[in-house]
This record gives sequence, structure tokens and C-alpha cells, in this order.
Amino acid sequence: MPFETISPKFSGTAPRLKITEVECHVLLAPDYDASFTSSAQDSFVIVIRTDRGVTGVGECDANPWMAKTCIEAPGTHTMGLCIKEMLIGADPFQIGDLWKKMYLGTAMNGRRGMIIHAMSAVDMALWDLCGKALGKPVHELLGGATRQHITPYASLQPAGHRFEEYRDALCASAQKAKSLGFKAMKTEITMNGPYGHGGMRESYERHTEVLAAVRKAVGPDVTLMVDVQYLWKDAATCLQTVKDWGEFNVYFLETPVWSDNVREMAKLAEQAPMPIAFGEWLATRFEFEELMDIGKVQVAQPDVGRVGGIGEAKIVCDMAKARGRTIVPHCWKTGISISGTAHLAFVTNHCAYIEYLPPQLCHERLRRELAQEELVLRPDGTIPLPIKPGLGVEIDWDVVKRYKVA
Ligand SMILES: [Mg+2]
Repeated sequence: MPFETISPKFSGTAPRLKITEVECHVLLAPDYDASFTSSAQDSFVIVIRTDRGVTGVGECDANPWMAKTCIEAPGTHTMGLCIKEMLIGADPFQIGDLWKKMYLGTAMNGRRGMIIHAMSAVDMALWDLCGKALGKPVHELLGGATRQHITPYASLQPAGHRFEEYRDALCASAQKAKSLGFKAMKTEITMNGPYGHGGMRESYERHTEVLAAVRKAVGPDVTLMVDVQYLWKDAATCLQTVKDWGEFNVYFLETPVWSDNVREMAKLAEQAPMPIAFGEWLATRFEFEELMDIGKVQVAQPDVGRVGGIGEAKIVCDMAKARGRTIVPHCWKTGISISGTAHLAFVTNHCAYIEYLPPQLCHERLRRELAQEELVLRPDGTIPLPIKPGLGVEIDWDVVKRYKVA
């Protein structure tokens, strides 16, 4: 294949390991609400086991039943192979070669979308496994940490079905995030469009009113991002509203137009009074290349659980650096993916913030209960370097048993 992939970097010889099992778990919170626009109510967790007892855990952010099928579906021909079969018997330290093997072996059905999302869970589990086998944190295997702390931003959560309830819930969530120590936060303002909260259909002027209220609630010193979740049909319509948002000091505007509308993105990147951020749904470096070179976005947001895993996300980060763009990874999942995101950020100095769904603020029980990550939010709003082997995540296996539905 004419492109590079990444494998763990370390000195000395790797322990000889063979993959013996790839376990797939579809988890669903029993109180999930299908009308609630949050993919953190379910999870696809993969456990990779080896002949020496070392295991790795990974997760992806995509429909978990589909992801399980992507991993387990039998193969029928050379360009449509079974991912699980390709992994059994392989050396887990050859992460880059295994990624290429999976990418090529599923090329007729994959290359983008679901198969790449599912491969992200495999990749994440392999990095965790190799870290545990060597007794080293993942950031070390990615080339070594280039800084001692990173800064998370809190994702605020809305509530209610009326304008006032929605606005006030976001203001309350913002003030709570500030009291927890967060120096940066992102508010969604989506009361219309395909992601419209709870079926709301409010005017664009009211979106400005919510932004003004949230900014007032947190004061001028907090870094504030805005996610409008594909609200506008084109750049011109978007600009009619956001041209006046300069006074609110918005750090970035996330997904203002549809994800495939890269030429409209480029117009916004040139004309909007704040940087434009995209990338949460994208799979592989190839989609990010289009996003940055045609869409011209200033902030790229790879999600380690969708883009193809930690290795593919690192390649996207390197591409962004070469183009002078900022990285702010997307992550709306459990502590497994948040940890994968953090390890990536520790080797990426142009990663300004990582997305962080605070367990104290969120409704999603899988986020709160499935995994304890090593990441600690200090009073100055930063997270220090993790030191445990692998991703440094402790899984509560009783939670896996309780919420497993397939
Ligand atoms: Mg978003």
C-alpha cells in the first residue's frame, strides 16, 4: 500500500505475543432515550486477548451492533475478508501492518464509514495491549510525550423542549463546569436543523440569544466554543447570523453546514469572524485531507473512535501540523476513548484542547460507570501526564455484564 501507518515505538525487543481472541461487546444503557441526541448512551467495546494473558480494550463511537457485525462478519473473497479472522494468530505489536491488512482486506466494503469506525476499536485495543505488555503508557509508544499537561474543554448539556428551558439549562451547565475548574467549554446551540434538540424549531435570532446568555453566565475569561450541529444549508445563510458573533469571542464554530459541503466550509473559513471546526464524523486521513485542503477549516477534530483509531488520528494530527491547522479532537464516549484522546494530545502540541464529557455533568450512565480513566482535572483546569501502562483505564466488568445486549 502506498501510504504509511504507525506502530509502537520502543527500544529493545517486543515480547512474543499472539492474538488468540477478539471479543465484541454491545452495551446499551437500560434508561436510554432514543430521542436524546447522544451517542454516549451505547458503546461498542472490544477486548483483544493474547496467548500470554495480556489483553487490550478499545471502543468506537458508532452503532454498536453494526460495529460488531463489521468485526465478525465472515469473509467471502479477497477484498471482503473477516476482520476477526485477520487478527487471530497475528502479532499485536505490528499495529501498522495489521491496520493496512484490515483496510485492504475489507476495501470493497470499507475504506470509509462503518468499517473504519469499527477498526478504530481494534486499533485502540492494540495500543492498550502493547502498552500493558511493555509496562508503558500509550503516549510513550507514540513517540513520547511532548508536554506535561493538556487542557480539556467541558461539553455542556442542554435540557428541556422550550426555548427558555434550553437556554437556562446550558447556562446552568456552563456555570457548573466553571465551578469544577474547566477553563474552556463548548455549548451546543441547536434549536433547529437536522440535529435540532428535542424537535425544536426556533429562529436563528434565538440562537444568538442563547450564545449571549451562555457568554454572560461564564464571564469573559472562559474559552467558549459553539457547536451548531449542521444548522445552516449554506455559508451565506450561516453568515447572516454569525457575522454578529464576534463580540462573544467564540473560539471556534463547529459544524455550521453539512459535513459533505466542503466548498461551503471554505467560504466560511474565509469570511466568518471565528475559526471553523469540523471532523467529528470523518473516517481516515483521506477525508481529513479534503476537509483541510478544499474545506480550508482552521480546526480539525478527529475522533479516535471513528477516524480509524489512535494511529490514524496521529497521522491526521501530523497532516494538520504540516498545514498550520489546530487539532481539537472530538470525543463523546466513555473513559476508554477519552483516554485514547488524551494520550494522542500528549504527543501533539498543536492540539489546543481535548473534548471531555464531565461525568459529574452528564446524564449518560455508561460514561459515568463503565470505565475509570486515570485523567485528573487539576484546579488550574489542566490534566497531568498519565503514567499507567496502556490507556490507563480500569473497566468495571460488572457494568459490561449488566449492560451487554449483544
Ligand atoms: Mg459536534
